[in-house]
Amino acid sequence: FTKSEGGNGFCFFSSDMNLHAHEKLELENLLHGALENQQFELYYQPQLSLPEQQVIGAEVLLRWHHPEKGFISPAVFIPLAEATNQIGAIGEWVLENACRQASQWLRDGLPLPRIGVNVSGRQFQDKNLFTLVKRVLAETGLPADRLELEITETAVTASPDEAARLLQSLRECGIMVALDDFGQGYSSLGQLRDLPIDRLKIDAAFVRDITDEPGHPGGAIAAATIGLGHNLGFSVIAEGVETQAQLSFLMAHGCDEVQGYYFAKPMPREQFEAFLRARMEAGTVGRNLPLTPE
Ligand code: C2E
Ligand code: MG
Ligand code: MG
Ligand code: MG
Repeated sequence: FTKSEGGNGFCFFSSDMNLHAHEKLELENLLHGALENQQFELYYQPQLSLPEQQVIGAEVLLRWHHPEKGFISPAVFIPLAEATNQIGAIGEWVLENACRQASQWLRDGLPLPRIGVNVSGRQFQDKNLFTLVKRVLAETGLPADRLELEITETAVTASPDEAARLLQSLRECGIMVALDDFGQGYSSLGQLRDLPIDRLKIDAAFVRDITDEPGHPGGAIAAATIGLGHNLGFSVIAEGVETQAQLSFLMAHGCDEVQGYYFAKPMPREQFEAFLRARMEAGTVGRNLPLTPE
């Protein structure tokens, strides 16, 4: 297995595998060495605007490659990292490296409009997150409006008022915020209305529901989410887009952005740079304009 095949393909421990206690313990121990042994790598998955299909950003997805175990899915090791208090150090590493890379691309004439970094619930509840983000932006020289943080509904529902304050201060600095996996958590519509965010990410499960069978209501939740998001003043991105039928449906319902295997898988740095360069030469990289003018 080569690294470049590892977008989401081969995983020794896949996300839907129920780990036995001893496997979990083994992985936890291996995870302790992952940072210092340089087993982490950032992958980048393009995000495109609709209907133009210009590249307007990329989501950063963490990959753990263990020399003996192979690729281990973040769906497995992120929860482990949270449970064992390692998420702080790992999250900091991701943020620093993602921002440094995006800043480097700017200087290299590969201006990616936006980079999306996942922030787990635990990280989001850490009092120092705001200070960390500010420091990383200052140190890497990445303009704040090129950074988007992806937070999950569950991170917000725990203490909505505190979450709203933190989100507000992040956005006052120009940092964008997306609510990831929307529809999988349990935030009430009232909570959602009051959240200072920029974007809703329709969870891939609701995109998967979209089929081209006539009369099949599979896209109902995706369509409703687009309408809801727009009515609340948010931009809407769909993740996990794999087919032309899904793309057509999302476009017809006014979805603002898409991300998924139909366009590109998450790619290691060099492959993503080649992708970006080709898209720049073709004139299909978006400009850095706010998508939802206030
Ligand atoms: P997520 O943030 O919702 O990321 C989207 C996931 O969907 C990624 O899985 C991505 O590779 C996958 N994906 C993208 N397009 C498609 C598609 O068309 N079809 C299908 N079937 N899947 C697609 P991945 O990379 O395995 O990451 C899983 C989860 O792990 C992420 O879900 C996120 O919650 C977490 N994660 C990944 N990297 C980080 C990180 O740096 N920090 C934190 N805190 N969490 C991370
Ligand atoms: Mg995400
Ligand atoms: Mg997601
Ligand atoms: Mg997800």
